[in-house]
Amino acid sequence: MQVFSTPKTIKENSSFTFCPGCDHGVALKLVAMVLDELNLQEQTIAVASSGCSVLLYDFLDVDCIESPHGRACAVATGIKRAHKAQGNNKFVFTYQGDGDFASIGISESLHSALRGENITAICINNTNYGMTGGQMGPTSTLGQITSTSPLGRNKEYHGFPIKTAEHIALCDGASFSARVALYDVKNIINAKNTIKKAFEYQKEGLGFSFVEILSSCPTNWKLSPQDSHKKIEEELSKTYKLGIFKDIKNE
Ligand code: SF4
Repeated sequence: MQVFSTPKTIKENSSFTFCPGCDHGVALKLVAMVLDELNLQEQTIAVASSGCSVLLYDFLDVDCIESPHGRACAVATGIKRAHKAQGNNKFVFTYQGDGDFASIGISESLHSALRGENITAICINNTNYGMTGGQMGPTSTLGQITSTSPLGRNKEYHGFPIKTAEHIALCDGASFSARVALYDVKNIINAKNTIKKAFEYQKEGLGFSFVEILSSCPTNWKLSPQDSHKKIEEELSKTYKLGIFKDIKNE
């Protein structure tokens, strides 16, 4: 099946530096495949900030830069605009976790979308701060037990989780906003097609494009990889509905 071929945008001899069963590897492979298909490898600059997502530079054979925590969309904005001013057509995308995109960087993320920056943001939503020990994040679901919410997320005390794809869809400068998942082959193929669409919208100069990916964190969820996918299918995708929330071409 095409999904499992090796993209040339994956570095040769890279070793897997994520936890066993983590979906980051699948997500990055899909990104690499789409960069191959759109022939974007040479003109791409990827921006990551902090968290497990920053390990993308271990895998992707493209120019990468690390921004301060949460500021990936702001840095991507500067890179895109500066190159454009020099007459260089760079393809710029961010690859961020949910804590990074939707809490620490919520201002940079939303305002990049409101300004209609012609960049693409990918947010890996695994409902916790993975790299730092599984703390409650902005996307942790009601009742979710994390290292900082041992009794579960409580709406009276902690408030409600943020639905990032829906929020980005409300921004007039956003051209595309969608949420996908990686828990089975059908959804993996859909995720790849969705990432491709978001990248194509940047290529066409349509403004901010966004893909939120529901992704597993077996280590902090304390589940097997299989049970992690079951949790996404049976629990998370109830809170976080899959689908396209904005497509400027269909308006
Ligand atoms: S902590 Fe979670 S998100 Fe980070 S690499 Fe491990 S499983 Fe993946």
